[in-house]
Amino acid sequence: MSISNPRREFLQQSLAAATVWSLLPESLQAEKHQNVSLKLSNFTVDITPPKGHSLCGGWIKPVIDVTDALEAHGIVLQGAGKPIILLAIDWTALSNGGHLLWRQRLAAAIGTTPERVAIHCVHQHNAPFACLEAQAIVEAQGDLPHIVMEDYFHDCSQRIAEAAKQSLHRAQAVTHIGKGEAKVDKVASNRRIYRDENGVIKAMRGSSCKDPKIRAMTEGTIDPLLKTISFYNQDKRITAIHYYATHPMSYYGDGLVSSDFVGIARKQLQEEQPNCHHIYFTGAAGNVSAGKYNDGSQPVRAVLAERIYKGMHSSLQNTKVSPIKTVSWRNVEILPEVRSTFNKEELNKVISNKAGSVVSRNRPSYMLAWLNRVERKQPIILSALGINDIATLHLPAESFIEYQLRAQTIAPNTFVATAAYGDGGPWYLPVKEEYPAKGYEVSKAFCEPSVDDVMTAGIKKLLES
Ligand SMILES: [Zn+2]
Repeated sequence: MSISNPRREFLQQSLAAATVWSLLPESLQAEKHQNVSLKLSNFTVDITPPKGHSLCGGWIKPVIDVTDALEAHGIVLQGAGKPIILLAIDWTALSNGGHLLWRQRLAAAIGTTPERVAIHCVHQHNAPFACLEAQAIVEAQGDLPHIVMEDYFHDCSQRIAEAAKQSLHRAQAVTHIGKGEAKVDKVASNRRIYRDENGVIKAMRGSSCKDPKIRAMTEGTIDPLLKTISFYNQDKRITAIHYYATHPMSYYGDGLVSSDFVGIARKQLQEEQPNCHHIYFTGAAGNVSAGKYNDGSQPVRAVLAERIYKGMHSSLQNTKVSPIKTVSWRNVEILPEVRSTFNKEELNKVISNKAGSVVSRNRPSYMLAWLNRVERKQPIILSALGINDIATLHLPAESFIEYQLRAQTIAPNTFVATAAYGDGGPWYLPVKEEYPAKGYEVSKAFCEPSVDDVMTAGIKKLLES
């Protein structure tokens, strides 16, 4: 694939995607392999943004320095049909055409198809919030801070694609798979806990919360378990993938890039266990954060990191190992309904209002980008990798925790580990009963409540036997 003109290439590919892909929700692709000889290779790429780069969409302080590096961690699995990539990146989000472009580049590098490349963000906030279409919209305004620097954006994807390709030379046999889980103490809490007598949200318990009354309320609906899937070459653990559902922010907005508490935990474990590659995916945490346990003060970052680290450690210790017998891959396309209140003319008016704040103009650029993307019928891919009785579930954007819990009920005999923050296009994905409760997440949801039925039908197709 030519990478000489990324912008033109991106537009051509978006167009091709729009014309080729089916939009039917029943467009399930499924395959199952038995007696496989599976091979795995790992790669890690530094994706720390340069000084001056916007963080979290350009409405908080841009990069002034780096506390600790942002990283991309991936695996390539070979031997069960075309290769499969799972990739976790320390970004806030990667959305729409850019998400597709990255999947296309990685797929081309290792000889597979884009729907077999699952890319997820860990969702730190002192990190890039990438959407090429939103970037083009703000750039056209001339007076708005960038959303993502295109050179940096393309450089990251090209280096990751190259790293994935080079990793193939180091591929090892994987003979066994492990599943482990452990309760994480005092990290996750539901953000939508403070409600009036009708259930309507009165105030949000954010990623940090200074109000002792709201912090004293119960944890609410969360998934307390951190899950770990381990890959073994005989008795040697070569990769451990950890999954836990919480927003990963302790504090942010100071211009100091950081992989934050989940990244710090991952890095600590990696340093202690250099022979095993540790990867972390954020689960369906659209309405979950550390707010109950985080007043936003600096010392809490290390405290939360230690709790995640302990969870990873216990989960590894609790791991049960079995020989790999079956490997399956399923993916399904969905195209949710855009929020009926979205209106192109109105959005353009707000974006071009030069008296407005950056957040009040850059944010609608993501809304317009999503509206345009659904109009060109670029679907969202949901996918699942199955190995024996273990499944990874790959969900988009800020999926609410209820989707992750629902997936476990849909497949009660399967060990389901959920990664969300895949394609970030639709922002918050509440379940339908949460729309009447309003609150921040619902006000920033880009889809109609019908997204719930579409997502749930998709998850069923991926996980039901
Ligand atoms: Zn978020």
